[in-house]
Amino acid sequence: MRIGILDVNIKNKNPGQCWVCKQAIETGKLHSVVVMRYGKGQQAVFKLRAASGQAMTKKSGLKYRRLHLVDCLAKWLIALHHYRTEARRGRNGRPKGSGQLPQMSDEDRLVRRRLVRRRASTLRLVIKEEDDQRLVTLVERLKSLGEQMSVDVIEDMAHRDSKNIRLLNQQIRRVKEITDGEQTTAS
Ligand SMILES: [Zn+2]
Repeated sequence: MRIGILDVNIKNKNPGQCWVCKQAIETGKLHSVVVMRYGKGQQAVFKLRAASGQAMTKKSGLKYRRLHLVDCLAKWLIALHHYRTEARRGRNGRPKGSGQLPQMSDEDRLVRRRLVRRRASTLRLVIKEEDDQRLVTLVERLKSLGEQMSVDVIEDMAHRDSKNIRLLNQQIRRVKEITDGEQTTAS
């Protein structure tokens, strides 16, 4: 889980405040600053604030946490990780009925999620496989997994980049050549 950019810093002019324990971070003391919003995210917020006259400096829109190195940084990371994982679990994917998929029972949803994951990992293997026989087996598994899914996954192709789609098609063509070749030899 990516939290942000980790800096170590020393405040020279004014003391700071620790995000976790709320105690002072004294001047001259090494402490950590974790920048959580930067780059494009920061620019977007900066533009919004600038438009409403709230951007005081170029740094407006940056989001960061100043923390004591000892104890507080570790506590904060653990808490944040826990919070984000729980939030993800709590959401349990998209709200019911909001996606491209029809309403499903919890059990169907679970089964489907497993199939989707298994198919994704099989796809990755197919793309990398160099051995003919194993490639044939993998592509067969891929077909069978596809058949087990009552609803086709539309978004899953959309998330794959064009290079991988090309590689995948190449591999499937290769399997077709291999199996066609076998049939010709057999007859
Ligand atoms: Zn602290």
